[in-house]
Amino acid sequence: EKGHHEKQLLESRLAQIGQIIMVMANKGGVGKSTISSNLAAGLAERGYRVGVADADIHGPNQSRFFGFVGERVRLDERGLGPRAFTATGLDYPILVGSLAFMMESDDTPIVWRDAYKHDFMHHLIGSFDWGPLDFLVIDMPPGTGNELITLADLLEGHDVAALLATTPQEVALMDSLKAVRFCQERGMPLLGVVENMAGVTCPHCGGEFHLFPRDHLAAALNEVGVSSLAQIPLSPTLASGSDAGRPIVLDAPQSAEARAFAPAVDAC
Ligand code: ADP
Repeated sequence: EKGHHEKQLLESRLAQIGQIIMVMANKGGVGKSTISSNLAAGLAERGYRVGVADADIHGPNQSRFFGFVGERVRLDERGLGPRAFTATGLDYPILVGSLAFMMESDDTPIVWRDAYKHDFMHHLIGSFDWGPLDFLVIDMPPGTGNELITLADLLEGHDVAALLATTPQEVALMDSLKAVRFCQERGMPLLGVVENMAGVTCPHCGGEFHLFPRDHLAAALNEVGVSSLAQIPLSPTLASGSDAGRPIVLDAPQSAEARAFAPAVDAC
């Protein structure tokens, strides 16, 4: 009966959520969490009610990227309380739910058995009291493993679309884009690719250059029928904004870095 109750709770949460955006990546470290937080910030800036669910079990970064390091969750009769990120100009706070809020301390490593991972996906969506949301952005674990399959199963029948975070050199290796195949096989709409670390602006001369070759990019994406939505530069202010707990999209909305996210926000 526990399973039945969990399922009911999950469905009651999902019934209040409009669009779910899964931010996926083939591997860690490509900027998936950075893209998730700024995407959520961009949607919130446009007046939407937005939640961010940090499902990256192995590297939960959303608590840091929204300035909630060390915070813990409260449990009341409505469930776990997500942390609310407020900023001037936002109609609604961004609600953040993360496994990091349930850890004993910030440096406790997380080693979950698969059964627990499944449970966690349930908890993340079902136990947090998200309330009504226009968008729930889910920062997925990297790869196309159990977590992704579990979550896709849990969300079956709801409005779910995926966004793939990647770097230019990764896109060139099309056979590594398992996430594209996953979406195609599941019939899950893939909004497109967000290319991270796609260029650098020289702080001295202002000139732009590319760290990674971009030659095959368009052709490779074209081959699998996926569009490149946005190109995010490699930028120290982007990293320092995240580390300081302020997504750059809200902190410096006129910056080139912030504006680079706009087409991805549009696509949602
Ligand atoms: P992932 O979620 O894919 O593991 P993160 O978003 O956590 O990746 O990014 C990994 C690290 O790289 C973080 O410290 C982040 O601040 C930094 N980073 C990500 N994208 C950029 C960028 N475009 N410019 C500078 N630093 C970045």
